[in-house]
Amino acid sequence: MECPYCKKEMKHGRVDSRNILYWTEKNKIESVSEESVRLSKWSLLSTSADAWYCPDCRTVIVPVPEIEDPLDRLGRSWDEFTGRLRTAHETRTAQRAEEKREKRREKRRKKDPWEME
Ligand SMILES: [Zn+2]
Repeated sequence: MECPYCKKEMKHGRVDSRNILYWTEKNKIESVSEESVRLSKWSLLSTSADAWYCPDCRTVIVPVPEIEDPLDRLGRSWDEFTGRLRTAHETRTAQRAEEKREKRREKRRKKDPWEME
């Protein structure tokens, strides 16, 4: 593939990841949603996406694969599910931390000012 910036030949390779790779719009909270674009194939053994690299422009191009078979859809559903769990967990963790901080503030407020160090 020719680099669209400098027109030199790009190096063919792949981008590896422990999770399936998705492109997601900048302001999305969830990492995987209906509009996410999957870049790697669903597989239990490896998740990598075909990619071209230009060392001069420090650019990687990842073409979006065509395939959307039942196993891919299952993988996407699973990713959406775990993504939702992760978001819910992060929200709960943040809430708990805020509750803890509020309790500490409350305690400090109730304390006799002479007890404060
Ligand atoms: Zn280039």
